[in-house]
Amino acid sequence: MNLIDYLPVVPDFPKPGIFFRDISPLLANPIAFQHAIDQMSLLALEFEFSHILGIESRGFIFASALAYRNQKGLALARKPNKLPQASHRQSFGLEYGNDSLELQQAALPADAKVLIIDDVLATGGTIVAAKKLLESAGFRIAGALSLLEIRFLNGLQLLNQHQIEHKTVLT
Ligand code: AMP
Repeated sequence: MNLIDYLPVVPDFPKPGIFFRDISPLLANPIAFQHAIDQMSLLALEFEFSHILGIESRGFIFASALAYRNQKGLALARKPNKLPQASHRQSFGLEYGNDSLELQQAALPADAKVLIIDDVLATGGTIVAAKKLLESAGFRIAGALSLLEIRFLNGLQLLNQHQIEHKTVLT
C-alpha cells in the first residue's frame, strides 16, 4: 500500500501557491489509516519518551492513536483561548499565515519527556513552536514525528538548527 496515494494535493488551498495535502482520504480508508499508525508507531519506538504532544488539530488524530497504541500519556498543544487552566503561549509563522499554540502548565508531570506529533512537516515552524512551548513549561523534548514531510520547504533544516530530532513516514 502506498500511503501517499491517500494524501492528494489540493493546489492553491488555503491560498494561491500552496499545495495542500488533504488527509481525509487516508482517514476514510481503514487500512490506510491503520497502516499510517503502524508506521508512525514503529518510528516512535526509536525515541525514548514518556508522553506525546499532539498539535491542534490534525496532529490530534495521529497523536491520540499513537498514545493509545504505545501506552503513553497525551498532552494537547491547542489554538489560543481554548484551555481552562494556566497556560504557556507560543506564536509562529505558517506557510499561509500566523498562528499560536498554547499548553497548559499542568498538562504533564514535571519529569515528562515528550515526543511531538503532527500530520505534516512543512516549514517546521509549528514543531519549533511546540518545542519552545514545552521548554517554556519546563518539559524535556524527545523529538518529533510526522506522517509526511513536504521536502522542498526544508523543514528538516529548521528542525536541525533547533536540535530537534525528527522522523517521518513519507517524504
Ligand atoms: P509548518 O509549521 O510550516 O511545518 O506547517 C505544518 C503545519 O501546518 C501542520 O500542522 C500541517 O497540518 C499544516 N500544513 C502546513 N502546510 C501544509 C500543507 N501544504 N499541506 C497540509 N498541511 C499543511
